[in-house]
Amino acid sequence: MADQVAEISACHCDLCRGWTGAAQWGFEAPAPGVTVTGDVKTYRATSFSERAFCPNCGTHLWLRDDDGPYEFVPGLFEELRAVPLEREVYADRAFACVRLAGEHRRVTRDAYERDHPHVNTEVCDDQV
Ligand SMILES: [Zn+2]
Repeated sequence: MADQVAEISACHCDLCRGWTGAAQWGFEAPAPGVTVTGDVKTYRATSFSERAFCPNCGTHLWLRDDDGPYEFVPGLFEELRAVPLEREVYADRAFACVRLAGEHRRVTRDAYERDHPHVNTEVCDDQV
């Protein structure tokens, strides 16, 4: 983390809503700068990504597309408390209970999927 200011994003896609209950917040960190220590469990969330969590307490740690940057959960880093929201993805898919106020970039589902064609919102068949 040290000298780099994180850009925090929120996502309202089906997968993120299912993972977090409403919206998922994250910030990217390039993989070469990340060292993981301690116990971590990963779960293959999609055909192109994994989720990670602590096997002792279940806390969410990151999302990561294959060969992509880590997308860490900002709530784990107290030093990010004052960092404002930079971007809201799938903004047009937000539930009414999590409409995010303020000045930040809002990206619609169509725009995001146009720029990230490998993404679709495949949801586990076991989910409601
Ligand atoms: Zn998402």
